[in-house]
Amino acid sequence: MRAVKLGFRGPMVSEVCFGSLAISPLQGRVTESEGQAVLEYAIERGVNWVDTAEIYANYAQLKPVLARHPDVRVVSKSYAVTGEQMRRSLEMARQGLQRDVLDFFLLHEQESALTLRGHREAWEELLRAKETGMVRWVGISTHAVAGVRAGALQPGLDVMHPIINRQGIGIIDGTLEEMLEAIAFAQELGIGLYAMKVFGGGHLGHSPQEALDFVRAIPGVQAMALGMSSQAEVDYNLRFLAGQKIPEVLARAVQHRERKLVVAEWCQGCGKCLEVCPQGALYLEEQAKVNAEACVLCGYCGRVCPHFCLKIV
Ligand code: SF4
Ligand code: SF4
Repeated sequence: MRAVKLGFRGPMVSEVCFGSLAISPLQGRVTESEGQAVLEYAIERGVNWVDTAEIYANYAQLKPVLARHPDVRVVSKSYAVTGEQMRRSLEMARQGLQRDVLDFFLLHEQESALTLRGHREAWEELLRAKETGMVRWVGISTHAVAGVRAGALQPGLDVMHPIINRQGIGIIDGTLEEMLEAIAFAQELGIGLYAMKVFGGGHLGHSPQEALDFVRAIPGVQAMALGMSSQAEVDYNLRFLAGQKIPEVLARAVQHRERKLVVAEWCQGCGKCLEVCPQGALYLEEQAKVNAEACVLCGYCGRVCPHFCLKIV
């Protein structure tokens, strides 16, 4: 697996980061132990960092695998706004992952300079944690062009995790071209960048090679988080990125299956899910409805529904 340097200040890591949302309970694709086996399999094949987040609720799932691989680095993220919330998030990650020192910690889903200003206290706390050696590298994840531009100028920021794929799916405030320009700007400032939603949350799953090629060719994006929930998906992605031939049987095994978010008929129309969707993909017509084109199947909405109405199938 190709090793890459994450920006001026980041470490050397494998080109692929294991996107653990795909094995988390939020997506419900695999059981806890099946997910652990897929992660273990990817690590054995050279993937040496894992992307998670407080919201994924999978620290306990990752912990035993990470304990067996202390050199594997972890990224986590939180929505903390205040310093106190950030302290709690860091403690939760340290205990949950059983790591005294956290490799990367990011502010989750920052949209612009305004949202970063709103999270100023949490950011300052993160910088303090970096100073004391509790966290090694800090940054943000973002679905927004304005988020990438603001993140690039954020003092002390080392890495960013922007949404980027060949059709611009999931970018909430601009075009693909604008996102590429923002990424080039961040690159000039030496920020480490690893791509999110390379397959557009499944929308580009029918042409995975084009999706991988596109992101790999973007100057400034050094690495990518790939959500993988089966050994076949690991094999496929890693073989492709290594320039190896994909056996027919493997191509068939990862053949794209259309997935979608469904709303159960007992939805009460409370609107809670609409508030947390980063894509604005939900709307109310007495009950919650999904705009399937906008939905990137992140699963964030399912966790807030008090009636367990939302499921990815
Ligand atoms: S509706 Fe929104 S929150 Fe729910 S899975 Fe789709 S993109 Fe994610
Ligand atoms: S949170 Fe659940 S009950 Fe409320 S609108 Fe969304 S799907 Fe319906």
